[in-house]
Parts: sequence; structure tokens; C-alpha cells
Amino acid sequence: MSFVLGLTGGIGSGKSAASNWFELQGISVVDADIVAREIVEKGQPALSAIQQYFGDWVLLENGELNRRALREHIFKHPTARLALEGITHPAIRLSIIQQLTAATSPYVVLVSPLLFETNQHELTHRTLLIDATEQLQIQRASMRDGQNIEQIQKIIQAQMPRSAKQKLADDIVLNDGHLDHLYMQLRPLHLKYLAEAEKK
Ligand code: ADP
Repeated sequence: MSFVLGLTGGIGSGKSAASNWFELQGISVVDADIVAREIVEKGQPALSAIQQYFGDWVLLENGELNRRALREHIFKHPTARLALEGITHPAIRLSIIQQLTAATSPYVVLVSPLLFETNQHELTHRTLLIDATEQLQIQRASMRDGQNIEQIQKIIQAQMPRSAKQKLADDIVLNDGHLDHLYMQLRPLHLKYLAEAEKK
């Protein structure tokens, strides 16, 4: 597997903005959020396992996952979350490894909002935190998604605190200005990762 950079940050911190920039430099990006959706698509073994464990009610008539019903079930039965994650997390990890291995760019970016929380950083050689104040996170996420401030605050509270992520990350970029300011900080890191990937 080539050199893997783990890219993380809280909601609205600018992870996607950063990973889009890396993609523009010709770097392959594996997105853990996309993988999490792919592994429960119709016909995927993880979806069959979920159906077997929970029952047919987890499927819509068209055979797709009834996300809303499953979300409500988990909300009412906290232990069900562990069972669900016992099915999904290994499938997500396997698929991430497959995609990282298949990538052909000089190095690969694994972008994940829960890089540290789900131990996905173990799959990486170096980690980069896109950091922003809570105020900026809320401002950006609410502009992007039209979600209300309470919803975004709840998501922030469920994620690992900023200070803990700062301690764990190898590199930190503070995304507190214009997008150009973000890109200017990413450029020297990109050159450093290219050099490290070359050494590997
Ligand atoms: P994340 O993927 O971490 O949730 P995004 O990269 O989607 O965050 O950023 C959230 C929103 O804020 C997006 O609409 C993005 O274009 C915008 N954004 C990110 N960084 C900046 C910045 N430095 N200046 C202005 N807008 C930004």
C-alpha cells in the first residue's frame, strides 16, 4: 500500500474543501463516509447481515436499507447500535483497505470525520487535522446544509473534542480564513507528503 494520509476534522471544519484540493493535485481520495454508504447498498453482504440480525423491517419495499427506521430503532435501543457497528465497521474497514490498495497516485488520502474515533488512523502513515473554531464550524455547516444550529451543536458534541484531536494529529491546519489561506497551508504539506511517499 502506498503512503496513506489520514485527513480529519469536525463537521464544517473544511475536510471536503481540503480533500478536493488534494484531488486537484492528482492525489486519490478515499472517503470513509462514502464507503459507509456503499457497504449497505442493495446486494452488499453487510446489508444482508443487517437484515438477518434485525429482521425484514430494516428494508424498504425496493430492497434498500430503511435508514430512518434503523436510526429510530437504534435511538430507542442503544445496544442495537453496537450490534449494527459490529456488522458495519469491519465491512467499512475492509472496503477502505481495498480502495487504498487499489489507488495509484503517489500517496493516498483517507478522509474521515471519525478517523480517530473508529481507529481508522491505524490504516494511515500520517494524520492531518483540519481545525476550525466551533463558531466557524457552525457557521459553515449551517450555510452548507441548512441545518439548524442546535442540530450542528449536537453533532459537534458527539464528535471527539477539538483539543483531543489536536493532540492526536501529526499535522494541523487552522482553516480560519479564506479558502486560499487553506490551500496555501496545504501546499507545503503536500510537498512533504510527496517526499515521504517517495522514501517509503
Ligand atoms: P467538512 O467536510 O469538514 O464538513 P466542508 O469542507 O464541507 O466541511 O466545509 C463546510 C462548508 O464551508 C462548505 O460549504 C465549504 O465550501 C465552506 N468552507 C470551508 N472552508 C472555508 C473557508 N476557509 N472559507 C470559506 N468557506 C469555507
